[in-house]
Amino acid sequence: MGERRKLIAGNWKMNGLHADGVALAAGIAEKLKAAGVVSFDLLICPPATLIWPVSAVVKGCGVAVGGQDCHPKTSGAHTGDISPSMLVDAGCSYVIVGHSERRQDHKEPDALIAAKAAAAHAAGLTAIICVGETLAQREAGQAGAVVASQLSGSIPAGSTAANTVVAYEPVWAIGTGRNATPADVAEIHAAIRADLIKRIPGGSCVRILYGGSVKQSNAGDLMAVPDVDGALVGGASLKVDDFWGIAASCC
Ligand code: PEP
Repeated sequence: MGERRKLIAGNWKMNGLHADGVALAAGIAEKLKAAGVVSFDLLICPPATLIWPVSAVVKGCGVAVGGQDCHPKTSGAHTGDISPSMLVDAGCSYVIVGHSERRQDHKEPDALIAAKAAAAHAAGLTAIICVGETLAQREAGQAGAVVASQLSGSIPAGSTAANTVVAYEPVWAIGTGRNATPADVAEIHAAIRADLIKRIPGGSCVRILYGGSVKQSNAGDLMAVPDVDGALVGGASLKVDDFWGIAASCC
């Protein structure tokens, strides 16, 4: 991978029943079809129940599908979990790991996230590895150190620019309407880039997404920051026009 194409990824979280998900996916596919050639990649990550129908709706139209989490094992006695190969079987090419809601609500440590990412790679998925500091950590001046430590613990051996995306999502900006300023984002993304260059062969080609209350009104400024290679979008990915507006702001 030479040039880093922007990746606009929608994380639907635990939202949507069958009819909603299919309509949302179809609406996004329609927009892409109508636009023709675009300069960005689109990814949608529906809840697990909707991966099959959503994959069927977007098949062949250039919208990728991802899971929101995976288990590090391929199969076995893990009630309620989904393996990377199951995600591939259902039509996924990406999976999010280490989202702050998993780190916080499920107490997921870095080592588990690294194991999930490694399992995702082994199954042929691209892992979107999420990192980001809490408000208390930022206010204590620890944002850079927290992110560096998460990168060190969460990126497994065998990561490459082709199988890994990093998402910087300050926890205090997720779902709050609060944004990191472009200057804050620039500082952390530059530090992530420097880390990736040391850590991963081809680290200069790994895409680094920003996430946290990205919407159409702020996407242009955020996407223009150096080393911001796209967005991980929660709330604004649930409406076709909002999600498409963010993607279109990359052009
Ligand atoms: C997210 O959950 O990854 C996210 C960025 O959410 P929101 O866009 O709603 O802040």
